Amino acid sequence: KEGMYIEIQTTLYDQNDHLIFVRDVTRLHLLEQMRKDFVANASHELKTPLTVIKGYLETLGMFKDNLPASMQRGIDNMTDQSARMEQLIEDLLLLSRLEANEKPENHQWINLAELATTLQKMANPLLDERFELNFDIPNDSFIYGAYNELYSAFSNLVLNAIKYSPEGGNIQVSWRNTEVSGIFTVKDEGIGIDPRYIPRLTERFFRVDKGRSSATGGTGLGLAIVKHVLIHHSAKLQVNSQPNYGSTFSCYFPADRVRKDPLLQAVTNT
Ligand code: ADP
Repeated sequence: KEGMYIEIQTTLYDQNDHLIFVRDVTRLHLLEQMRKDFVANASHELKTPLTVIKGYLETLGMFKDNLPASMQRGIDNMTDQSARMEQLIEDLLLLSRLEANEKPENHQWINLAELATTLQKMANPLLDERFELNFDIPNDSFIYGAYNELYSAFSNLVLNAIKYSPEGGNIQVSWRNTEVSGIFTVKDEGIGIDPRYIPRLTERFFRVDKGRSSATGGTGLGLAIVKHVLIHHSAKLQVNSQPNYGSTFSCYFPADRVRKDPLLQAVTNT
């Protein structure tokens, strides 16, 4: 029937027979849609009161010097927390938009070396002498995709590499073409991840160490955002990590979305 969702599963029953399960998941689907709508609406509604709070905090901040130290600390704390809440709302809205995918962003050929320059500018203010951030992205690297989405995904990976490397170290951002894919990789020498948590990393709000993650200011939504962006680009995420040695996050894009030489590609397409 129209508007009905079903799930079909087959398993081998014995040597000759198969069992086919048909499940009506319409209700489940509706509930999931309600959850998504609720998150999107709630996040949107939270924006206005937060803007008002931030406005008053800014005004208070101007008179901070005349206030007792305890109140100054209070204002600093509220300012930090409202920035955190703003980031959380932005991430929730972005994730809702990515999930709904109602108005998909335009896809175009993106020069990765140019995108990497923007990533570097974003990361530089967060780095100190303990870090070395290296980019190894050939000039003729391209992805056919949505610029803002890819920028969100890649910047989340770079920011995580910085956040989860408390002692600094080398962060390597690279691009490699193989016959079947183009691979964007961010490698760090940070705290690493216990292998048993790796399958859960892209769940929303999942954090390996909740205490440490709130101190580092994360929202727990970064890798969920990465996952959805990659789905939109038919790409896959692979995580390799060793606790205390570091992690490598690799995004595999299919060959038809990447190309070595744009001129050659233009000729081939005509
Ligand atoms: P968060 O905002 O908490 O960083 P993410 O979705 O980006 O949320 O990441 C989920 C969790 O995965 C993090 O809380 C952290 O525990 C772990 N994680 C992500 N990236 C790294 C990394 N490069 N090194 C170690 N742990 C990481």
